[in-house]
Amino acid sequence: MEIIEKAPAKINLGLDILRKREDGYHELEMVMSSVDLADRLTFETLPENKIIVETNKAFLPIDKRNNVYQAATILKERYGIQDGIKISIDKHIPVAAGLGGGSTDCAAALRGMNRLWQLGLSMDELVSMGVEVGTDVPYCVYGTTSFIAGKGEIVRPLIPMPQCWVVLVKPRISVSTRKIFQQVEMDQLSHPDMHKLSEAILKQDYEMMLAHMGNSLEDVTIPKHPVVQQIKDRMLKYGADAALMSGSGPTVFALCKKYSRAQRIVNGLKGFCDEVYLVRTLK
Ligand code: ATP
Repeated sequence: MEIIEKAPAKINLGLDILRKREDGYHELEMVMSSVDLADRLTFETLPENKIIVETNKAFLPIDKRNNVYQAATILKERYGIQDGIKISIDKHIPVAAGLGGGSTDCAAALRGMNRLWQLGLSMDELVSMGVEVGTDVPYCVYGTTSFIAGKGEIVRPLIPMPQCWVVLVKPRISVSTRKIFQQVEMDQLSHPDMHKLSEAILKQDYEMMLAHMGNSLEDVTIPKHPVVQQIKDRMLKYGADAALMSGSGPTVFALCKKYSRAQRIVNGLKGFCDEVYLVRTLK
């Protein structure tokens, strides 16, 4: 039997760093949502007890460094599954981009194996395995607009964000999330209000949502990569309702209610960056 699971990219409508914790992690508050740019995972049971991961991107690891391989190892061990599994990842989400590609693949792997082996695991059980692989995985297990706290393990689903067009632009640089967090200076950060942002989404108030979007990590990434600011400026010049860096970057997204504006941003940015995507928010 073969099953398929979609793994949509996430964007951070907001990210606030509250403090650095004793354990080295940062205490965060975030609001995330997903868009219809997705990887596609295919699952197949193998008679022999082994894990095989394949992908269409030759530069990605397919051994235990791959998040999907880790998800399969944890789930098989925890539930004593003797079957083997082959998971093929058809990747469309840019890598090391701030779009949670590895995390959403991991979450999709957990959901897919739950279905394939009919384990009947709850969201909480999938989240508890996912958090061992990465802090954005718990959100990705849900994949619907949510308020997120702690280091990422506390997820409170809201309702879908007001629907709009999303233009994603990734400059030709990769940013390591770990390195960006290491360079955080707490006294130099702005603090967008994630509670107000959540309230705006619950009220479906698009203007209020735009007013409270923000990302503390822009204060760290932009001084090192000024191209991020240049993309934001261009998006606003071409009529974006808002433009913000996602996660630790370097991808920047623009939100637009009007399709014609989104199209204008796409055209205006295409000559500037080669990776430009026009997508929708997920319902
Ligand atoms: P985040 O926004 O959660 O910080 P990101 O989008 O910045 O994530 P990823 O695309 O998840 O970053 O890639 C980060 C690293 O994870 C890459 O260097 C890659 O080698 C590794 N990785 C492991 N598994 C995967 C996977 N299934 N897909 C993409 N990258 C993976």
